[in-house]
Amino acid sequence: MKITDRLQKLRGEMAGREVDAILISQPENRYYLSGFTGSAGCLLITAEKAVLATDFRYVEQVKEQSPEYEIYQIKGDLADWFPEVTSGLSLKKLGIEAGQVTYSMFRQMSDIISKAKLPMKLVPLEGTVEGLRAIKEPEEIELIARAVEISDSAFGHIEGIIRAGMTEKEVAWELEKYLRENGSEKIPFDVIVAAGPNAALPHARPSERRIGEGEPVLMDLGARVEGYASDLSRTIVVGQPDDRFKKVYDTVLGGQLTALAIIQEGMTGEEADRLARTVIEEAGYGDAFGHALGHGVGLAAHEAPRLGPGSTETIKNGMVFSIEPGVYLPGWGGVRIEDLVTMENGKIRVMTRAGKE
Ligand code: ZN
Repeated sequence: MKITDRLQKLRGEMAGREVDAILISQPENRYYLSGFTGSAGCLLITAEKAVLATDFRYVEQVKEQSPEYEIYQIKGDLADWFPEVTSGLSLKKLGIEAGQVTYSMFRQMSDIISKAKLPMKLVPLEGTVEGLRAIKEPEEIELIARAVEISDSAFGHIEGIIRAGMTEKEVAWELEKYLRENGSEKIPFDVIVAAGPNAALPHARPSERRIGEGEPVLMDLGARVEGYASDLSRTIVVGQPDDRFKKVYDTVLGGQLTALAIIQEGMTGEEADRLARTVIEEAGYGDAFGHALGHGVGLAAHEAPRLGPGSTETIKNGMVFSIEPGVYLPGWGGVRIEDLVTMENGKIRVMTRAGKE
């Protein structure tokens, strides 16, 4: 991991947003910029300095994981350490993570600033580090590819053992166990296994429902390798699929293959989404595809970019994202087919290998 390169890119962003420092505490952003894997700590980054403030539990760890950072050991609460860490830096505009800083923390910081009569203004920033994270380095793509391999093989494993009469929970646990026993760290999100009508809920929780013959079984799972997630959805039938399933499945697959073939660098998230959505609308299922086509995947299972209606984000080389159209019919079930892809030389390269035909 090239922390110095990332810090340099961040400093470019800071200049563009006219802040002279940025305070980072969102866990994935903190890890991305420092390599520090502890669960508590704050980064303060200026044009020249990089300070990692954490408590005594993590001091030794920071020395090892984040040699690019000066360590500040937090002893008291915010009112003690915040003025101390920022003192002498003559900061005028301090960027904070709008999506992470709570209202109570914002109020405390404002109080501290006004009591100490610091000439500092807090500037809420959206998506600054997330924008950097969206473009992956080759090493990051390699880790995601390893996570993809684990979830692909978990799906292959379950295809071999799933049968009518198993409960959704049993299948979900079998998947989770396989993921963990085959190289995944703590899985990035709860495994979804939804059979029959339950599959009409895009984010169903596995229940005690037993899988019946001929009904759709939707599975959504991911692995994690050195912090990086994968995300995979497949829908199968135990026994013989009926005509309705075949029609819905072919529609979703058609939408997905169209998107995979046509998406290219420079498109917006909305344009990418439209490709699959048009196919699904033309088959008469437009209203049944109620979520976005895809999302970025990396240190978080859901991150930038968003490929969906209204998304103006531009798709760029180095991005890794999911392509996951779905059709959900209340009372019957649903179908979702999700692959993970990366943009390479202007075109999509599919990373997922789990079968879908
Ligand atoms: Zn997904």
